[in-house]
Amino acid sequence: MSQLSELPTPSLVLDHARLDRNLTRMAERMRALGVDLKPHLKTAKSAEIARRATQGFSGGITVSTLAEAAYFAEAGFRDITYAVGIVPAKLEEAAALIRRDVELTLVSDHPAMARAVGEQGDKLGVRFPLLIEIDTGSGRAGLDPDSALLIDVARAVTEGGSELVGVLTHAGHSYDAKGPEELRRVAEQERAGVARASERLRQAGFAIKRVSAGSTPTAAFAERLQGVTDMRPGIYMLGDLMQAAIGSCAVEDIAVSVLASVIGAYPERNQVLIDAGSLALSADRSANSRWADVGYGWVLNEAGRRLDGLYVASVHQEHGFVTSRAPLPFERLQPGTRLRILPNHGCITAAAYDHYHVLEGGEVVAEWERVNGW
Ligand code: PLP
Repeated sequence: MSQLSELPTPSLVLDHARLDRNLTRMAERMRALGVDLKPHLKTAKSAEIARRATQGFSGGITVSTLAEAAYFAEAGFRDITYAVGIVPAKLEEAAALIRRDVELTLVSDHPAMARAVGEQGDKLGVRFPLLIEIDTGSGRAGLDPDSALLIDVARAVTEGGSELVGVLTHAGHSYDAKGPEELRRVAEQERAGVARASERLRQAGFAIKRVSAGSTPTAAFAERLQGVTDMRPGIYMLGDLMQAAIGSCAVEDIAVSVLASVIGAYPERNQVLIDAGSLALSADRSANSRWADVGYGWVLNEAGRRLDGLYVASVHQEHGFVTSRAPLPFERLQPGTRLRILPNHGCITAAAYDHYHVLEGGEVVAEWERVNGW
């Protein structure tokens, strides 16, 4: 146990009470809507958090890298969805996990890849479970739910020798939705689209056991999830300024912040300099699309109280400039003063750190590791 004041800067700080509150709120929502929660660990990248997030559910999780898959397998997770399109070069690593009794489910939207997965599986002596990715409006990966290719890909999966488990979608365009009504509409578009794709496959004779959907905004705003078996939100665990601006959490729910030190004060420019720049905070500016004066993050004092109007206006690699429209309270921002910065995008900010400093009532009670890289 140590004090916040003893941590080096920059450090990644996690508020335990807020994390728990975020996990409970989403778990209750998913239970009320009658679906399994297979949370996306691309954000938290931590076994401690994964164990808490899956409590009361099947224990399935979602990952974005094979490094995460291996790490969570080592931590005891047995149902893992690798939700980034698969390529043959990654199959040997995937097969090694399946041989260790991990149900590692892969994703593709392409007939040639689906066939290649089956052929490689034959050579490697494993049968890969596969989900077909569906585009329900985000325009990133996936097939249109009504596309003729959907049935071709399903055939390529089963004829290739893999197991067709079902369909998966991620309504990434929920991040562009303005207001609760539009968010509910995007959530329904995601649900209806992925359910329609699953029905088309069933009518074509394929046994579909999984219909997987989800982003944090759609999970937070969906009114019904008929036809969906599981949701995969991720950033709801930590929260960030973008989620607060969208409306899927409150600013008071944001559980991660970057602890930084003031390293210079420049009244003539109405700026103070901190030792957290683009590497410590990330260069993500997403919440600026919705709110003024966000820059690279809002500024809190060390205890976690917001310093109204203060934000990180610009960054260099290891330097950040804090300013405000009003004159800065320089008497409270002397060099050596410690601040905390709320991030625009928690997933990207946290990626610079290999562990969380877990905070309970002002005390650092634990260090939780994170798995980065690929
Ligand atoms: N599923 C997939 C395939 C994703 O790519 C993501 C996030 O990028 C998620 C689920 C989780 O969404 P969110 O980050 O909004 O919680």
